[in-house]
Amino acid sequence: MQVGIVGAGMVGSAAGYALALQGTAERIVLVDIDDKLARAQAEDIAHAVPFASSVQVEAAGYDGLAGCGVVIIAAGVSQKPGETRLELLSRNAEVFRAVIGEVRRAAPDAILLIASNPADVMTDVATRLSGLPPERVIGSGTILDTARFRWLVGQHLGIAPQSVHAYVLGEHGDSEVLAWSAARAGSVELRSFAAQVGAPLTQSVCERIDAGVRRAAYTIIEGKGATWYGIGAGLQRIVRAIARDEAAVLSVSIVTHEVEGVSDVALSIPRVVGASGVAADLFPELDAGEHAALKASAQILKDTSDALTL
Ligand code: NAD
Repeated sequence: MQVGIVGAGMVGSAAGYALALQGTAERIVLVDIDDKLARAQAEDIAHAVPFASSVQVEAAGYDGLAGCGVVIIAAGVSQKPGETRLELLSRNAEVFRAVIGEVRRAAPDAILLIASNPADVMTDVATRLSGLPPERVIGSGTILDTARFRWLVGQHLGIAPQSVHAYVLGEHGDSEVLAWSAARAGSVELRSFAAQVGAPLTQSVCERIDAGVRRAAYTIIEGKGATWYGIGAGLQRIVRAIARDEAAVLSVSIVTHEVEGVSDVALSIPRVVGASGVAADLFPELDAGEHAALKASAQILKDTSDALTL
């Protein structure tokens, strides 16, 4: 599959690098308002190709996106220290007004994969601006938060994060919901697994993991200005599910008909992802507190999207 990336900054280039190393795409096209940056990133990634798989990497204008099956949109401005993702909204909606029309013209059959923050509202914005059906405008949503959750739980239990089956739901951001009650390790309910390996999930452990997931972006931004490797790998994972028609279950964001009584809201729940985009939505069993938190998260996102006139 040919994959376009609009926005060749840290996130876009990390996604391109991950796609090249994993051999997920046959051709990777980087587009940026800053041509020089796009060319430099493409050349740098291309220099990894002799150590990786056979893939063509290039920089181009929008016309170069012709034939792409997926276009990742990572254009925009990154979060400043202390700035919430929702505060980024108006700055990034402006960027999307310029970008989405060009992408649709050049690659009318492409699935859009939205990384720019605030990821859920930007997914809603991209859905509205593109006119595409919701299942073809996929936000990376909580793919990264879910990875952080699995990694921290895996660390605590002393097992591989790949053996932790746990999801973060709702907003990619402050109101996100760690679905503890639906989490499993192997096929074992998480608390039971933790007790069996002598690493109980006490309230303080759960609070530490919750903060580690919820605050991760803020902590990393304080240390290095932005985050890019984790999301780059997460974007590669979503593209792979589409390119290989994997029907993989991933926590991603699309505009969803109804979640916890809130209608037409973009947020993350586990979804089946394949060649046609999102093929099915899954609603994990939650406890009362998690239901309430997911409803609150959905309402925050809905209110923010509704307040935005395009
Ligand atoms: P960056 O500043 O390094 O890159 C953004 C790029 O977008 C720049 O190269 C810029 O020139 C380009 N751009 C701006 N306006 C454009 C336009 N109109 N057309 C084409 N290109 C344009 O920022 P970054 O660190 O790569 O972050 C990009 C976005 O991803 C931000 O919104 C950031 O908050 C978000 N992000 C999302 C996640 C996630 O989990 N979804 C994680 C990290 C960052």
